[in-house]
Amino acid sequence: MVKADMHVHTIASGHAYGTVQEMALAAKEKGLELIALTDHGPSLPGAPHRYYFSNLLILPRFIAGVEVLRGIEANILNERGELDLERRFLEHLDWVAAGFHDDCITPMSRDLNTQAIVRAIGTGLVDVIVHPGNPQFPIHHEAVVRAIAEAGIAMEINNASLIYPHRRGSETNCAELIKFAIGYRANIILGSDAHSPWQVGEIAKACELAVSCHLPPEQILNLTADGVREYLKKRGKPRYVVDAPIV
Ligand SMILES: [Zn+2]
Ligand SMILES: [Zn+2]
Repeated sequence: MVKADMHVHTIASGHAYGTVQEMALAAKEKGLELIALTDHGPSLPGAPHRYYFSNLLILPRFIAGVEVLRGIEANILNERGELDLERRFLEHLDWVAAGFHDDCITPMSRDLNTQAIVRAIGTGLVDVIVHPGNPQFPIHHEAVVRAIAEAGIAMEINNASLIYPHRRGSETNCAELIKFAIGYRANIILGSDAHSPWQVGEIAKACELAVSCHLPPEQILNLTADGVREYLKKRGKPRYVVDAPIV
């Protein structure tokens, strides 16, 4: 299984159930080495104020021996691909996930949804596009995967989408997205989208799908913590500096 979970929410998201410490401890118990905190961007109801994200830098780099990346799950707001946190905040985060949530954007046509993702990628701020298989937001799969591959960023296969009802129907889309990802050699992240400590590192369903689609393991960035670190270095993350572990 994976050693890094790149999609983890805390109570700050407003509808999740673990603190930062509880999420890190759960990760440790499950043998993970790294997690990325990806609380929802400010425009989602119940999500934290934008200062929450700028203040993440006060957190230790390691909690319970687990490396904790400071991130966000930003909302794509419109067909221009605008995100719900200003550039000056986003460029200081270790990990910027971006995706559609229906409280923040009304689903548009397939063309416009695709354009929104492609333009969000074009900002240069996004490290991973999350749950692109959500049937509520139809996209041109090949065009999105191509944009992800050309930008050298990553696409998430979201485990929660495959087991909970809120993004029902994702599986077929995800299988097709993986097929294109293989063709374009796009980077893949298997994310839990954990909203409670019990879900941290739970990516079994996403893994099963990846295997059944014959996705080469080399394309999955978060099988190891080093895979994630290498990727971030390539992304030129200036803030990505590993401090001494605080155990
Ligand atoms: Zn989401
Ligand atoms: Zn999420």
